[in-house]
Amino acid sequence: MAGIWVYADNPSLTLELLTAASSIAEGLKTGVAVILSHDRDRAQDYIDCGADEVFLLPPLSGDRSAGDYAPVIADAAREKKPDAILVAGTSGGKEIAARVAARLDTGLCGNCISMSVEGDSLVMDRFMYGGAAVQKVAFMAKPALATIPPRAYEPSRPTPGRQGKVEELPAPPISGIKVAGRRGREKRTEDISEAQVVVCAGRGFEKKEDLAMAREIADLLGGSVGCTRPVSEELHWLPEELCIGLSGIEVKPALYLGIGVSGQIQHVTGIRDAKIVSAVNKDENAPIFAVADMGIVGDLYEVLPKLISALKKAKG
Ligand SMILES: Cc1cc2nc3c(=O)[nH]c(=O)nc-3n(C[C@H](O)[C@H](O)[C@H](O)COP(=O)(O)OP(=O)(O)OC[C@H]3O[C@@H](n4cnc5c(N)ncnc54)[C@H](O)[C@@H]3O)c2cc1C
Repeated sequence: MAGIWVYADNPSLTLELLTAASSIAEGLKTGVAVILSHDRDRAQDYIDCGADEVFLLPPLSGDRSAGDYAPVIADAAREKKPDAILVAGTSGGKEIAARVAARLDTGLCGNCISMSVEGDSLVMDRFMYGGAAVQKVAFMAKPALATIPPRAYEPSRPTPGRQGKVEELPAPPISGIKVAGRRGREKRTEDISEAQVVVCAGRGFEKKEDLAMAREIADLLGGSVGCTRPVSEELHWLPEELCIGLSGIEVKPALYLGIGVSGQIQHVTGIRDAKIVSAVNKDENAPIFAVADMGIVGDLYEVLPKLISALKKAKG
């Protein structure tokens, strides 16, 4: 019986969840199953990457959403009694995890960053207080539900030739909700979550036009521009998709450069995985320097023109 289930709604994240699932399945002496809602022809790929079973959900008609699968997954869990159900921490994943947990009246660890088996119990870690503390969650009820953020685990690698079972799950019941229409959110900017260099503009800039200096440095370094929350939410100088931190996005560049950024916890939680953190700030006591690998104490209006000309010179 496969006791750790992975809900697959995104191929690359499913491979990361498979690594997480395999890491605990061994300790619980159980197997791994994938619940596959679309891309049904990927079943063998997931078996190659560690699944012992694949549960195929039937395709949904156009006016239904993945959340409608919750009753089917909950019924299957009641019957097969998995130890845990792992779901990617995407917006759709969070919705389905919450719905399944509610139906099963069980616990859900949101934003789980690691998990282990202690005795017979499954224990999960998640960040609290914007990343300032780690909370340990031990599950008393089964199955344990968890949403796992992208990149918490390495993707599982295939071992071709693995064998696994494939089983069809029934169609979801008629939903009480009818979707009247769908409208994609307008994307106003690039995705900086994968950028290798992020130049982050903070409230130290005096005018919107001055952000051109941050943009020029980003261009010279082949990177992207991000910002702190006041710059997007209060000043509206940049779109909110570029806000880095607790209420924005997480970035993991090779180089982060914060300019006029104080470095409050709600911001630096979004740069935890940056390899090198650097900063320009006129206040030598700014908290950003406590997390920076290098920095310049100085007025950005004096430092940036020099930095731009040095970068131009270096580039020839
Ligand atoms: C629930 C909650 C969630 C939040 N989520 C986020 C989030 O996701 N992301 C986020 O960024 N914030 C978030 N915040 C806000 C956060 O607490 C800080 O207020 C914010 O990060 C500060 O932005 P800042 O560094 O641009 O501005 P400030 O804190 O005002 O800092 C400006 C810095 O610029 C420096 N400076 C000023 N002039 C110059 C100059 N000429 N040259 C050089 N340096 C100069 C100053 O010394 C100062 O350190 C959140 C807050 C709450 C309560």
